[in-house]
Amino acid sequence: MAFRDNYDFELLVNEAERIIIEELEKQLSEDTENKICKCQDCVLDMAALALNNVKSSYRSSFTGVIYAQQLYDGKYKEEVTKSVKRAIEKVKKNPSHEVE
Ligand SMILES: [Zn+2]
Repeated sequence: MAFRDNYDFELLVNEAERIIIEELEKQLSEDTENKICKCQDCVLDMAALALNNVKSSYRSSFTGVIYAQQLYDGKYKEEVTKSVKRAIEKVKKNPSHEVE
């Protein structure tokens, strides 16, 4: 039996991913003039860029939920906000497709 078949690695949760996606949704919703492309490619690029610039925060079970709550406050949240902002700017200037 292969190692990966013995354990359910799907249970690993990266809390950073959840927080980044929430923050991305929030910041993109503030683009009321619709200056930022929100196609699948661009939004996923933004999420990937933002995620690569923050510390990942994996938990392996529900016992990590309380720890995860702490991520919503303070310095980490600040990093997430900045990272998402930078990612949006970067993709806006240099989208992975032709600008229409
Ligand atoms: Zn796009």
